[in-house]
Amino acid sequence: MASIVYIYIYIYIYIYINFFFFFCSNHNLIDIKCNLLAIALSLLSLLALFLHWKRWVFNGVNKTKLTGVQFTYEIAPVFVLMEQLTLKKMREIIGWTNGDGDGLFSPGGAISNMYSVMVARYKYFPEVKTKGMSAAPRLVLFTSEHSHYSIKKAGAVLGFGKENVILLKTDERGRVIPADLEAKIIDAKQKGYVPLFVNATAGTTVYGAFDPINDIADICEKYNLWLHVDGAWGGGLLMSRKHRHKLSGIERANSVTWNPHKMMGVPLQCSAILVREKGILQGCNSMCAGYLFQPDKQYDVTYDTGDKAIQCGRHVDIFKFWLMWKAKGTIGFEQHIDRCLELSEYLYNKIKNREGYEMVFEGQPQHTNVCFWYIPPSLRVMPHGDKRREKLHMVAPKIKAMMMECGTTMVGYQPQGDKVNFFRMVVSNHAVTKSDIDFLIDEIERLGHDL
Ligand SMILES: *Cc1c(COP(=O)(O)O)cnc(C)c1O
Repeated sequence: MASIVYIYIYIYIYIYINFFFFFCSNHNLIDIKCNLLAIALSLLSLLALFLHWKRWVFNGVNKTKLTGVQFTYEIAPVFVLMEQLTLKKMREIIGWTNGDGDGLFSPGGAISNMYSVMVARYKYFPEVKTKGMSAAPRLVLFTSEHSHYSIKKAGAVLGFGKENVILLKTDERGRVIPADLEAKIIDAKQKGYVPLFVNATAGTTVYGAFDPINDIADICEKYNLWLHVDGAWGGGLLMSRKHRHKLSGIERANSVTWNPHKMMGVPLQCSAILVREKGILQGCNSMCAGYLFQPDKQYDVTYDTGDKAIQCGRHVDIFKFWLMWKAKGTIGFEQHIDRCLELSEYLYNKIKNREGYEMVFEGQPQHTNVCFWYIPPSLRVMPHGDKRREKLHMVAPKIKAMMMECGTTMVGYQPQGDKVNFFRMVVSNHAVTKSDIDFLIDEIERLGHDL
């Protein structure tokens, strides 16, 4: 009986989510028809799945209580298949031949990035798995000074040491300067260190910058280094025919981090680590625990994906993403991405020449990150210098605090390098409207005018 209830809950959630996306996006008639068709078809296919795998599904559902755990195929067969299918699709979109390769959903971009470093180390120094870091020479990793701190953290956690994560210089827009990478590789080699891994960021957290992947890939090939692309933030742009050129060269990466829970609007948590070489995740992480991963099961045990992870039980992150993809379609994600970029372009165009605003870097942003200072009238007349910098540094925090006290809106700020606090507005929700953007500007001016 309990199983019947679970089926009802499943179908209920399924319809609910489908209709939720259906009503939450702007539709024309074709969209509506496509969506209805997609809903009907996917419902049918889901029902067929249930009938076909009744026993296994019930078993999985009972054990996993809908939110679920994913160790082995027998525990969560449908979720395992959903994961494999979706990862393959993502690898196809990256551009790897036939979508071949490997991957896993992990608890976030920081962990996905850590996987990439682990796998790179295993590729070049597999003996570290058994003998530890003393079996390897002094290894160094490279990433830009604008990259996410999780690369440095991976270096610390995995025993490379923070000092062995070498930061690369960027241009004024926050993109890695490839010549600096090559110079630092040569320098490291001369000191007797062994370069191992390069991270290129596709969509940096603050500036939204895309590192030049092709130039970096050339250097990685020349020196035989692992190339990882951290697309936690910018990976979503791969879904857009208009914007995916910003990641061109990504198919040359050995591994990619891509967070559907960021730009694609999937609820937290949903992050994928994708690896070009099949089998290496398994080789790197497997411990072959006899009580879970028996080699003599009656089914193909390559479906037991749990041993590739550094976790034991894994949360089922795939279900909501798979559902969302079914409901919105690839086209729906593309529209979502294009719309968000359009909105940030609207913001950029509105403030770039407006009195009282200064952009942090010149030119149209590559991602939805719009970085700017608001200069209150009292500062507009001040000569440039330390005193003005000091005052400007306090403006964004003060305005944000007032926004929160008034309960009207919120926008992030931070310093970066030698730049004092500036606002960073990002759009990842396509339900945002132009009037929301107008409101934000009005609020900043209303609250900041007398500072
Ligand atoms: C957010 C972000 C991460 C970390 O992702 P989490 O899912 O929050 O762990 C990594 N890299 C970049 C570029 C990011 O913007």
